[in-house]
Amino acid sequence: MIPAARPIIGDEERAAVDRVLQSGMMAQGPEVKSFEEEFAQFVGGRHCIAVNSGTSALHLGFIAAGLQPGDEVIVPSFSFAATANAVVLAGGVPVFGDIDPKTFNLDPKHAESLITSRTRGIMPVHLYGHIADMDLFETLGKKHGITIYEDAAQAHLASLNGRMAGEWGKVASFSFYPTKNMTSGEGGMIVTNDDEVERQSRMLRNQGGVIRYQNEIVGFNNRMTDIHAAIGRVQVTKVKAWTDQRRKNAAYLDAHLKGVTVPYVRPGSEHSYHQYTIRLPGVTSQERDQAITDIKAGGVGCDVYYPTPIHRLPSFKLSLDLPVTEEIVKEVISIPVHPSLTQAELEQVVSVVNDVASRI
Ligand SMILES: *Cc1c(COP(=O)(O)O)cnc(C)c1O
Repeated sequence: MIPAARPIIGDEERAAVDRVLQSGMMAQGPEVKSFEEEFAQFVGGRHCIAVNSGTSALHLGFIAAGLQPGDEVIVPSFSFAATANAVVLAGGVPVFGDIDPKTFNLDPKHAESLITSRTRGIMPVHLYGHIADMDLFETLGKKHGITIYEDAAQAHLASLNGRMAGEWGKVASFSFYPTKNMTSGEGGMIVTNDDEVERQSRMLRNQGGVIRYQNEIVGFNNRMTDIHAAIGRVQVTKVKAWTDQRRKNAAYLDAHLKGVTVPYVRPGSEHSYHQYTIRLPGVTSQERDQAITDIKAGGVGCDVYYPTPIHRLPSFKLSLDLPVTEEIVKEVISIPVHPSLTQAELEQVVSVVNDVASRI
């Protein structure tokens, strides 16, 4: 079976971990500091603060930016649960917006219609590695005096008109979970151009202080270890080439798939293809699930991100009218696009998916 994702861990990552273990100092230290400096090249040199997960990056980012209990943050419902969980963990209230059917990203018009006197933030998600309509969100934020955040967990090296994911929001959050485009084992990065958000983030991840035993605020232990940072530092040197390969694989799939809707890329946008997500337009969720079974039977790993919109998960259980989200969750399938695919594997993906699509 061709796996849906394949984290690439080589000798250099193993040697980097060994170097840290040999040093006897494993907690947050010089490797974390270097990882932060090296990751900054992907976000226009903004401040980078490493933490233990992408979820922690979102959570601490909200608190550091001053989100207060009861503040509303507009987020898409078509995302990973962490997007909304982080708002709640920071004391806020997620307000779920609908998406654009072409890009799968938060729809700026619908988001604007949800703004109330309690709205303090909007957080688009660059889903699958395609940047949300950030120029419009930036304008919306200025017009209404609302903070713009970015959930960039899936968008390392994605860009729009030359501006990178992470270079738009007051705070952006990245994830280094193993299946993301680069990994540190587990980990996340808070990215900001605001000195005070940086200072607060550094304190929040470390019990509320940067100097030992001089805690200024009440904080967490959400530090990244030097072991994880050492892995991330190796991956930083490789993620550009991997992303180029993802783009080449996607171009091959775009050119050869038939009978399915291939991912849309907005003009000026460079997709990072965390996922290559096709649509089977007009199918029921049962037909889509049968297609998944058939594609897997052909030896091609695939999956649905995400089968249930966040607002309908048992953790939120809201009844909302989000028609585009409800249509898209029935139709999407993510198929392999990862950089270690061989040409033979790419051809197998195409022939199996085309065969399944022709029978729907
Ligand atoms: C992976 C992911 C997260 C959370 O990252 P973790 O490192 O797993 O905590 C948040 N949002 C989105 C959209 C993600 O894909």
